[in-house]
Amino acid sequence: MTKPHLHAEPHPIWGDESAVVELAVDWSARRVVRHTDPLSTARPASAIAADAGPTITPSGIGGAAALRVFDTVLEPATRSQDDPLNLAYIAAAPTRAAIAFDLVTSAANIFGGLWEAGAGAIYAENEALAWIVGLLGWPSTAGGCFVSGGTSGNLSALMTARETARTRRGGRPAEGWQLASSSNAHSSIQSAARALDVDIVDVPVDDRGHLTGAALRAVLERSPNVFAVVASAGTTNEGVVDDLDDIADVCEEFGVWMHVDGAYGGAGLAAPSVRELFAGIERADSFIVDPHKWLFAPYDCCALVYRDPQLARATHAQHASYLDHVDREVWNPSELALHLSRRARGLPFWFSLATHGTDRYRNAVEASLTTSRVVADAIRSSDHLRLVREPELSVLLFERVGWTQAQYLEWSNAAAHAGVILCVPTTWRGRSVLRLAFVNPATEAQRVIDVLETLR
Ligand SMILES: *Cc1c(COP(=O)(O)O)cnc(C)c1O
Repeated sequence: MTKPHLHAEPHPIWGDESAVVELAVDWSARRVVRHTDPLSTARPASAIAADAGPTITPSGIGGAAALRVFDTVLEPATRSQDDPLNLAYIAAAPTRAAIAFDLVTSAANIFGGLWEAGAGAIYAENEALAWIVGLLGWPSTAGGCFVSGGTSGNLSALMTARETARTRRGGRPAEGWQLASSSNAHSSIQSAARALDVDIVDVPVDDRGHLTGAALRAVLERSPNVFAVVASAGTTNEGVVDDLDDIADVCEEFGVWMHVDGAYGGAGLAAPSVRELFAGIERADSFIVDPHKWLFAPYDCCALVYRDPQLARATHAQHASYLDHVDREVWNPSELALHLSRRARGLPFWFSLATHGTDRYRNAVEASLTTSRVVADAIRSSDHLRLVREPELSVLLFERVGWTQAQYLEWSNAAAHAGVILCVPTTWRGRSVLRLAFVNPATEAQRVIDVLETLR
């Protein structure tokens, strides 16, 4: 079969690039539909260099050669994220529609920072954000924008919280600001505190690993300079949702901003079987969820929303002479987070949601929950494995009775090396345990259970 060839006017500098466009698009289309190779993995830079050879040269190696290097050397030296048995960390399992639309988003070359440049794209991104706002039970005046990841979403939200406190409380306290969070909060909260130059007050968690209203109240009673609390809606290591409703009560009482980090677990809002865990989230001030984790979008994509976006504008809008003419009355994503130029990175998520519909999204999140419950049951009924805590979302922590960290590592490395499963040990309350994180609806419980038999 002969393919139609693209025709483009040669460019005065770059020449005729149509052949390389076709090569790259063909490669992409084949990659989107093929199964991934679980054996692809990181290699030392020296090994990559030896196979890739020099690529940046004065006269260029040509698109065909560069793509060949990518295809045969570079991409195989990356980990396959969407392999159904990649259950370490929190992988990304985007829909093919979302990945394909990532190409479309690139091809359209949209400046997504300002409405006047990106109106149509921003409109679509806002439709996707409105779905999330609806799941939160927030008023329709709430909104936000997409940023690169949970780290920058948390920082942008907390910067808004800090500026809001400065305005409302008439300046910075002499001793500086404080941020309340638990030791189970994500490491990016510590990064945000460093960037904002604020101290973290630790709120001790209870024996379920939850940040509770009572513990928060005890902290706020003796720490008047706390401007915000970070609650987790799905901690990364354990998949635990803090006591959001009680936390909201205390935040209201003390006039403290409530930020909810749902980077991983926020997707659970779409799943009726766990929605109850999120009760109280309708009272938070800001929220993030990473569609590149459990909402089936490719990297990199974090949805950041504020109950009152005006507070974010007051914090993040940049003013410069060359921006004088910017219309501030319209929806400018660059005014809602710490960024100016931006890719319309919410479009692949919007396209996938529009293509498949929110019912199928609900089913897909429920599928991971069901898989994790079936595997949890198998662990409960086995004699060599033991759940170390009751799962709340789709993360399982368990141990192989009697094993040491060295044995876990040996098993985990061998299984990864053979391309059987990616399951790595983590630390839970000072102990080495195994962890499985389910975010890929294609993961079959029985395959995981079969692999766990090799832990005997
Ligand atoms: C992954 C994660 C983050 C960080 O998100 P990135 O997109 O990796 O920057 C923050 N918080 C939680 C709870 C996470 O799981």
